[in-house]
Amino acid sequence: MTKRPGFPVQLDRVSSSLVRAGSTRTGAQTMPVTKTSVSARAPALQAVASGLGLDSQAVRSRMVEKLRAQGVTDEAVLSAMNQVPRHQFVESALVNQAYEDTSLPIGLGQTISKPNVVARMIELLRAGRSGKLGRVLEIGTGCGYQAAVLSLVATEVYSIERLRGLHDKAKENLRTLRLPNVHLIFADGMIGFPKGAPYAGIISAAGGEQVPQPWLDQLAVGGRLIAPTATAQGQQALVVVERTDTGFQKEVLEAVHFVPLKSGVA
Ligand code: SAH
Repeated sequence: MTKRPGFPVQLDRVSSSLVRAGSTRTGAQTMPVTKTSVSARAPALQAVASGLGLDSQAVRSRMVEKLRAQGVTDEAVLSAMNQVPRHQFVESALVNQAYEDTSLPIGLGQTISKPNVVARMIELLRAGRSGKLGRVLEIGTGCGYQAAVLSLVATEVYSIERLRGLHDKAKENLRTLRLPNVHLIFADGMIGFPKGAPYAGIISAAGGEQVPQPWLDQLAVGGRLIAPTATAQGQQALVVVERTDTGFQKEVLEAVHFVPLKSGVA
């Protein structure tokens, strides 16, 4: 079952105009990343910290500058992260930390990944492509933040969550953003989502023992899959799988710490 969060509600003014711009074209040309001076940022941080959220764009731009400094180079990813109001996806008590490079609890024992990890994974998914990705499958909707970022760099986003409470929370969080290309699914993501297949990209926000076979089956030729996966040493690392004409190419990258991929729904 697919759900479209399509209710006509408002987005904060700056982001709303940028999202519209981003829905017609991708890339840095249409969505420039705003640079903010240090002196201009401090009051904005305070405003958000005090719960007023008066100028979230300034704090967001500061987060994006940090991502750049950390080595994220894909302008489409930076631009998308500059637009999505991350503070709207976390509990109000955590709003002051929303733009820090940290993971945060989102309830039911789960966490929203830190901005750097979200940017890194989507950068890997895009692999330097200039245009938008086609259909993307996300396993682990959580609070819906990454789905919102993905919606700006892909034509369609199918995002699956196995916990009803988080699926509902994501629906609520995404409602105000009006992103008609995000489809939220309440189901066990271990089996993927065959209805949307084949996918140009598959991205998992939860780590399993291995990459489930249905994900590989649902990956398009030329498509890429990014998933935290257990290593032989019992740790977790980011695994990138690319489907070629003849098979699958797998690469194991840096160590990461994601919540576990679990089967069934709850
Ligand atoms: N992308 C999310 C991160 C959420 S954390 C965000 O931006 O907030 C990972 C999520 O994966 C958790 O919500 C967890 O419930 C979910 N998850 C774990 N196993 C799953 C499965 N088999 N199918 C769907 N979701 C799963």
